[in-house]
Amino acid sequence: MATSALCFACSGNKDQSENQKEEPFNYSLEQFSDLQILRYKVEGFEQLSLKQKELVYYLSQAALEGRDIMFDQNFRYNLVIRRTLEAIYENFEGDKNTDDYKEFEIYLKRVWFSNGIHHHYGQEKFLPAFSKDFFEKRLRKIDNSKLPLKSGQGIEEFIAEICPIMFDPTLFAKKINQDADIDVIAMSANNYYGQGITQKEVETFYANMKDPNDKTPISYGLNSRLVRENGLLVEKVWKVDGLYSQAIEKIVGWLELAENVAENEQQKKVINTLIKYYKTGDLKIFDQYAIHWLDDKNSKIDFINGFTETYGDPLGIKASWESIVNFKNEEASLRTEIISNNAQWFEDNAPINPLFKKKEVRGVSAKVISVAMIGGDCYPATPIGINLPNSNWIRKDHGSKSVSIENITDAYDKASQGNGFSQEFVWSNTELELMKNYGFVTDNLHTDLHECLGHGSGQLLAGVDPDALKAYGATIEEARADLFGLYFIADPKLIELGLLENKEAYKSEYYKFMMNGLLTQLVRIELGKNIEESHMRNRALIARWVYEKGESENIIQLVKKDGEKTVVIINDYEKMRSLLGQLLAEVQRIKSEGDLKAAKELVENYAIKVDPILHAEILERYKKLNLSPYKGFVNPVYQLIRDNQGKLTNVSLSYTEGYAQQMMRYSKEYSSLPNYNE
Ligand code: ZN
Repeated sequence: MATSALCFACSGNKDQSENQKEEPFNYSLEQFSDLQILRYKVEGFEQLSLKQKELVYYLSQAALEGRDIMFDQNFRYNLVIRRTLEAIYENFEGDKNTDDYKEFEIYLKRVWFSNGIHHHYGQEKFLPAFSKDFFEKRLRKIDNSKLPLKSGQGIEEFIAEICPIMFDPTLFAKKINQDADIDVIAMSANNYYGQGITQKEVETFYANMKDPNDKTPISYGLNSRLVRENGLLVEKVWKVDGLYSQAIEKIVGWLELAENVAENEQQKKVINTLIKYYKTGDLKIFDQYAIHWLDDKNSKIDFINGFTETYGDPLGIKASWESIVNFKNEEASLRTEIISNNAQWFEDNAPINPLFKKKEVRGVSAKVISVAMIGGDCYPATPIGINLPNSNWIRKDHGSKSVSIENITDAYDKASQGNGFSQEFVWSNTELELMKNYGFVTDNLHTDLHECLGHGSGQLLAGVDPDALKAYGATIEEARADLFGLYFIADPKLIELGLLENKEAYKSEYYKFMMNGLLTQLVRIELGKNIEESHMRNRALIARWVYEKGESENIIQLVKKDGEKTVVIINDYEKMRSLLGQLLAEVQRIKSEGDLKAAKELVENYAIKVDPILHAEILERYKKLNLSPYKGFVNPVYQLIRDNQGKLTNVSLSYTEGYAQQMMRYSKEYSSLPNYNE
């Protein structure tokens, strides 16, 4: 696919004169396998003070130093394999146009992307498509000193060890294996537990640690590998002088520099406590750090750096290392503040039975941020929102921070423009224009309304069990929040509040929502399967219900474009809005009364089943577009600029580094762990 060069003039300063035009920014870099590599823009970095830029720089360095940890956590041979592949890549002489070489390059790029040899999302080991013969010959050609051989290991011995790990589909087949009735620890290839450790042992070990009366329990086992030593189970803690010490010492070094240029005392305390935690591995200090981090509300710069999320461990105990450095997007955060401050108006004007309304409602104010650097488990595939910390008691007693990362969603949006997707599935140029002009704004606004108001609106009648809707609860709850957002995004109040400038803008969100809910979200489902995920169910529920009610009155139609392609037409947006209001009223009633029967009917009738003929058509059309289902990002490059006296004068930001170039540089500059970490 061609990369799309987009001018920023439309979203940037509108008064920009011709000769000041910014360079076109390439959001999309390259595509291979099922992956697409994008670039994000760090808008607002230039406006930071020199000290803030310096802080971003040090935190960014700290963010990159943990990359090897993630590789090793994913699988104990990942660093050896990566270094072997990189040695071949760097020392390659010969024909680069052979299929073997091309496949070799793709495999290496995939290993970089997944931080190892297992798919970052699907968890299965992906196999090289180049021949084993090609690989072995290349290895024999390279000077042994460039390969990650164990001491005394010969090249043939090395080949015999590494080839089956890469090429044999039955060995270490899944990074995380959650199949029923198996030992999920023994059958997972990740490196959170030593060899020969069983699920039962892990469960017993941690069950024995817990004190059921402890109201403020630490996150047991979060920062260690559990291994057997001399017949006993012991935790090898990830800390300075512990496991991964070489990388953690570097991280700490950068954090110490960051501490010196912190914006304020609270932030200094955050960084200082994190350093203490890295030095001791003490999870009580980690909890203190998390609380200080929550209390740091006034800093412009913020960051995550550490063992954070536990999705990589089938038992959810051990955390992968990740980092995100970011700063507040004041303008966009203003948007969520305005919405939050007007929460009562929205509640009072919601089209629902007054009995189900909250007398006093408080909106949640989510911060909107721009990322400046991503590392570890957040790189190159990265989240678009963060909600931390994970400790339940800290969340209950101290709250949580919820942020959305707008320069990442912006990059997704920009990179998808012109990729043919909308052209394929949209009815006419009118809708395309609407989506081009207002798609991004209304999408964000809909998310804000959903998150800041939707979930918090309404109330249960006295005595209604919050879990009354059972398995249908999640879908109904998401539908309720989505409907709240959809209903109000068309309200003139948003223009009055300065959140939208055009009263037609909402049509973009309506069209996109219907297209997605009726048609295009099916591309994420395999033929023959039902809709399972609750957000997807909610979107199908709303779109299909509104379509069913709207079709007879000609408000909404599904037609065949060019006689073969199913597309949505919305003839009357205002009437569609009133249908959304009706459904919101009903969904709120179901929730408020705990009407399980009605919830079941709505979900079963509208949200789950897929029309196989339509599904096949959508999949076929999507396939022809040749798009990648998974995306990841390269980082920008920051450099300290000093004058002749060595005094810092600026921190430069550039976007010129390519994907392979960046990965190779990281492997040289931020690679302090040994090949094997025992
Ligand atoms: Zn939600």
